[in-house]
Amino acid sequence: MRCPYCGNTNNRVVDSRASREGRAIRRRRECQSCQGRFTTYERIEQQPLSIKKRDGSLEPFDRSKLIRGIQVACARRPVRLEQIEGIAEVIEEALERAGAGEVDSQRIGTLVMERLRDIDQVAYVRFASVYRNFQVTEEYLDAVRALAERRGYDDAQLDFLESVLSDESTTPGGSVDEDGE
Ligand SMILES: [Zn+2]
Repeated sequence: MRCPYCGNTNNRVVDSRASREGRAIRRRRECQSCQGRFTTYERIEQQPLSIKKRDGSLEPFDRSKLIRGIQVACARRPVRLEQIEGIAEVIEEALERAGAGEVDSQRIGTLVMERLRDIDQVAYVRFASVYRNFQVTEEYLDAVRALAERRGYDDAQLDFLESVLSDESTTPGGSVDEDGE
């Protein structure tokens, strides 16, 4: 396995564990040359999953694309790459277990949201805004309020979330500036 940072092929396994469903082995490796760390997965080869998009077209399930999508929602949030990889892993396993060769993209979005909700509320709302295709700010706010009630957030946090959302509603697709908080 070639180091993604320097290309050296000598590395050692520093941690090895089975994934939750036991369908994959996850290995944390350290490059012998640059000491960079990276993760590899060993898994059973399965019938490939296809994603059915909103326009009805099919595309192969792409794990790294899913991870990138979650990373965008988690930009500058205290969410570790390992947590994001973990979400992708759990979802891929759930879909494989369900045995459905074809999966609706909305279903994947819902699965991601369910997990992000428990990890980071701002990332959750950002992700929800893309996958639910919320168009009205009130819809964002309802989602946030429901979340805040569920999690028992105080008013200051709720105000912060609402300010994040109103920023996003005025600049669709733009980045969110949280530095003012
Ligand atoms: Zn290296």
